Amino acid sequence: MSELIPVLSKEQIRTLVEKVAKQISVDYKGKELILIGVLKGAYIFCADIAREITLDRLKVDFLRAASYGGGTTSTEEIKLTKDIDIDITGAHVLVVEDIVDTGLTLRFLIDHLKSYNPASIKICTMIDKKERRKVDLQADYACHVVQEGFLIGYGLDYDEKYRNLPGIYEMKL
Ligand code: 5GP
Repeated sequence: MSELIPVLSKEQIRTLVEKVAKQISVDYKGKELILIGVLKGAYIFCADIAREITLDRLKVDFLRAASYGGGTTSTEEIKLTKDIDIDITGAHVLVVEDIVDTGLTLRFLIDHLKSYNPASIKICTMIDKKERRKVDLQADYACHVVQEGFLIGYGLDYDEKYRNLPGIYEMKL
């Protein structure tokens, strides 16, 4: 049985999400913004942050990159398995990610989205995990920063399980 060490409670997550959503609402005031959630891990974070952003013209879409499988290390081979449906040409885009680890997934997704010529493209992540970053990539908005560890809960899985946990935990395998 693996040990689960609490990292963020449901209440702490709510406070952090509200704070970041408030900042996004200020930064994009008067603009149309398209949130692009990265499936599957960001589905809960994206739903929560969208409901806290107070912009009138907010759109939401999703894409999906092939990720972990059953292991706990990022694969360096990334594939787009679902593209966006909304036209983002000339639009302000905010990519909503669950966790940035090596940064390779987001680098790949950002390069892909840039090919549609959006007006701007920024990154919002629930967790910014610093230690294993391999590319020069900074999250513009991060709810919480950790150095290391394999996290589960609040959308984050291990072998497709634990996504439904309302808090975030570090899993000691
Ligand atoms: P990166 O390409 O930045 O190394 O990894 C990004 C993806 O790897 C995330 O979207 C997530 O799916 C997965 N990932 C990275 N770190 C963790 C972690 O601590 N826990 C879980 N569950 N997934 C992670």
